[in-house]
Amino acid sequence: AVQNNPFTTLVTADAPISNDSHGGRAKCLQRLVRLDLPVPPTVALSFDAVKQIASGLLPDVAAVVRQFPEGALMCVRPSSQDPDWGGPGAVLNIGMNDARFAHLRGAIGEDAAAALYTRFIQAYAINVARLDPDMFDDVDGDGRAAMKASLRAYERETEEEFPQDPATQLAAVLRSMARAWNGTSARLLRQAKGAPLDAGLGLVVQQMVFGVGAGQCGSGVLQLVDSATGAPQVTGRYLSQSQGRDALAGDADTLYLTKDARGPSLEELAPQVFAELRCHAALMRKKLREEMQVEFVIEDGNLYILDGVRVVRSSRAAVRIAVALAQDGIISRAEALMRVQPRTLTELLHRQVDVGARRDVIGRGIAASPGAATGRIVFSAAEAQAGAARGEACILVRQETSPEDIRGMHAARAVLTERGGITSHAAVIGRGMGLPCVVGASSLSINLPKQQLTARDGRSFSVGDEITVDGTTGDVLAGAPAMQEAALDETFRTLMDWAEEAADIGIRANADTPADAQTARNFHAHGIGLCRTEHMFFEPGRLTVMREMIFAETGEDRRAVLERLLPMQREDFTELFRIMQGQPVCIRLFDPPLHEFLPTDRTGQRELAEALGLPLSSVMRRIYAMSEYNPMLGLRGVRLGVTVPEIYEMQARAIFEATVEASRDGEPVVPEIMIPLVSARREVELVKTSVDAIAAAVRNERDASFNYRLGVMVETPRATLRAAEIAPHCAFLSFGTNDLTQMTYGLSRDDAGRFMSTYVQQGVFEEDPFHVLDVDGVGELLQIAAERGRRAQPGITLSICGEHGGNPESIAFCRAAGFDYVSCSPFRVPVARLAAAQLAI
Ligand code: PEP
Ligand code: MG
Repeated sequence: AVQNNPFTTLVTADAPISNDSHGGRAKCLQRLVRLDLPVPPTVALSFDAVKQIASGLLPDVAAVVRQFPEGALMCVRPSSQDPDWGGPGAVLNIGMNDARFAHLRGAIGEDAAAALYTRFIQAYAINVARLDPDMFDDVDGDGRAAMKASLRAYERETEEEFPQDPATQLAAVLRSMARAWNGTSARLLRQAKGAPLDAGLGLVVQQMVFGVGAGQCGSGVLQLVDSATGAPQVTGRYLSQSQGRDALAGDADTLYLTKDARGPSLEELAPQVFAELRCHAALMRKKLREEMQVEFVIEDGNLYILDGVRVVRSSRAAVRIAVALAQDGIISRAEALMRVQPRTLTELLHRQVDVGARRDVIGRGIAASPGAATGRIVFSAAEAQAGAARGEACILVRQETSPEDIRGMHAARAVLTERGGITSHAAVIGRGMGLPCVVGASSLSINLPKQQLTARDGRSFSVGDEITVDGTTGDVLAGAPAMQEAALDETFRTLMDWAEEAADIGIRANADTPADAQTARNFHAHGIGLCRTEHMFFEPGRLTVMREMIFAETGEDRRAVLERLLPMQREDFTELFRIMQGQPVCIRLFDPPLHEFLPTDRTGQRELAEALGLPLSSVMRRIYAMSEYNPMLGLRGVRLGVTVPEIYEMQARAIFEATVEASRDGEPVVPEIMIPLVSARREVELVKTSVDAIAAAVRNERDASFNYRLGVMVETPRATLRAAEIAPHCAFLSFGTNDLTQMTYGLSRDDAGRFMSTYVQQGVFEEDPFHVLDVDGVGELLQIAAERGRRAQPGITLSICGEHGGNPESIAFCRAAGFDYVSCSPFRVPVARLAAAQLAI
């Protein structure tokens, strides 16, 4: 008997069936049997059985057939471990033959009986005999004629009679499905979805319930939620006199399930069956602890449940479904948190290209800032601003961006650059602003003199042409595909609250402007982990002042510029402190890499000449004299602070004066001041001495008391190794993993985009190390620094503020290393928080 055969098992409540031996569908069917649902008799074939079948060793197929009532028809469906891994298509009506047709003709009518047979002949021909599906193209009409024509076509092509013995038919179907699983394309397809090399396939053989014949007959699917939104709503379709998933084919005769103004419904047609079906679905949701799509058949007014599959869902629906299941007490909050992939939250936070939209991809680059936007191409920041002023949506297309482009970026809907990597200017700024951005799209070439963008396939796009930048995937598309709006609903907030309770590592935001800070606050960030003060000058009118400061030749000139900068900074900080009231704000002293701040275009150069009252030629001479071969390794960060101490003194004063201001009408503010690009202890000593002196002076002048915390941004390899001598001067160390990755690999963060994809494709790097922290190399340096720093200064606060702070794998590393918090772009805070919660669960 089947029960005694280890490979073929009748699905009963206590049969030994598991996901790992028989696959998900078999296991699910067993659960439905346990719930006493009306499931037709089913036999499950294990992974081992299917493996044997593929190699030609068939189980006792006749014994399987004997499990079903005499003359029953059967269907076979795949049962892989994970439904996402796919499997061969179902084959219905096995067992149909001439004798069965003759018998059924009387019972359900000739047309219905012939339709069953025709369907089986064609499925058998295509899946088992591997005949060309086109051969049935001329079979038209239905009923007996179509059946005869199909049989004839089969016999003509195979030069054999259509097999009549049900066991022979079943054996052939099983063999072909087992072999299809081992085919190269099926293998590659499932491996791309994460299936292991030896992923198994189970098969289920189920007695057919016809769905055709006398009385109310038909088939359909039902689910209790909307797949797009996750909102509770009975959705699905029912088609009278149909089988399998025919009801989903969109036939004009399909019925709605519930009463619907658009047409007749199952609820009206067969109210009792519908009520029963709905009850079964609710039971499945509760007991299977998941939103399920129910596949059902009605035969002569009797309801059967054939299968249940996890409801397909959008990211937005995934959140809503998980939260609702937990709120209904079906799953725990922890489980709800585990069921949502952190990355899918990204899709909720930004507009996206609709999943079903046609994508006319013209180029690809690095997905640097998520979300998608459509607009007309412009090649300069000025045009983007002009376009925005006219109310036009523009896409700013640049070779790469610099601070001069910031206004244009604000005005544009998305940014596309030919060069750059995940930490390049456009990428960092784009993420900060929540602006979709694709960088390093080297398959597209920009011809500025011609004002053209050319794709590799030869298509050219000019100013004003419409394109779409998909910063979630890195694709650049022609035209305007359908979009899906961002969806931050109540369930999202609920999930975030639960994540907050579960997580045990802090999540701060990198925020440079009051707008960023407000976003951070809205997402309940635990403070600001990095305020890049030089970015505060990316605003209209301010950039020139910053440049004047960098340009000043005499102490007197510089003092004059710093005097203008001081009130600006003081106001900036006061506002940040007010927005973040009660939370830490970590301000990084200036770190302007010169290549990002020296004007490269004529407009910027002219503006600077005007501001300085100098002829353009002297400005250009000075730009030339100041430019560096390796600006990322040049006069940046603390090196500027040590060579021109007045600059950091001005910033310290602005911070302390703002502290006094902001503490006046709220909780006392404790600012954090961070020194960038440190590589030697002496750098820290020098800056600390001067900052302490400014603090004392401000306390004195204002007759105020306040505290502050001084720390070091560890972003050079030497600083990690010398952490023991740096830490004693610090309240905190924050790892700037962008520069640390750049310097550890000796890999320019602005140029890596050009060859990163080749490196990843060839397996040199498993991932872009600017995107996912390199735990082996950079990670070892972090560990060394953490250990040495902690030993020298017990209780020192440790964190990471490079772009890796928003990446789930990198957060796992930081948590394992015992860091206090990670800091990431404001829009990545929810992703980071959910990832952190999952790590703690
Ligand atoms: C870093 O280097 O990791 C960092 C956060 O600083 P920036 O990106 O401004 O160099
Ligand atoms: Mg840095």
